[in-house]
Amino acid sequence: MNDRRKVLVVEDNELNLELVTDLLEAHGYGVLQARNGNEALELASREQPDLILMDIQLPEMDGLEVTRLLKQNADTRHIAVVALTAHAMRGDEGRARRAGCSGYITKPIDTRGFARAVENYIEGEAGQEG
Ligand code: MN
Repeated sequence: MNDRRKVLVVEDNELNLELVTDLLEAHGYGVLQARNGNEALELASREQPDLILMDIQLPEMDGLEVTRLLKQNADTRHIAVVALTAHAMRGDEGRARRAGCSGYITKPIDTRGFARAVENYIEGEAGQEG
């Protein structure tokens, strides 16, 4: 189903990073890891992942700012970014979308629905690009 699709996970919390990595690898995805915005920008540009999962609360540059920069860069703006945030607050989805995110997954991660959500975002993007 997925021919070693690559997902870049941007997350500064080691436990969350490990959890998301394990879930993705269990479903056959290749995983790239970044712990801050600068790593994310460099990896996204160089490795061209199929999807980016973006923690919003990051040191230095936050995830919304990283997403804006990804969307301003011709090398990376085609890559779908999905926000990962602990805030289950009204308004977060709108902020994420305005920054350029395709959608939103809340933490704590629902481990049963997670892989399907990731797949849907990847397939959705592929569909849009025809
Ligand atoms: Mn964080």
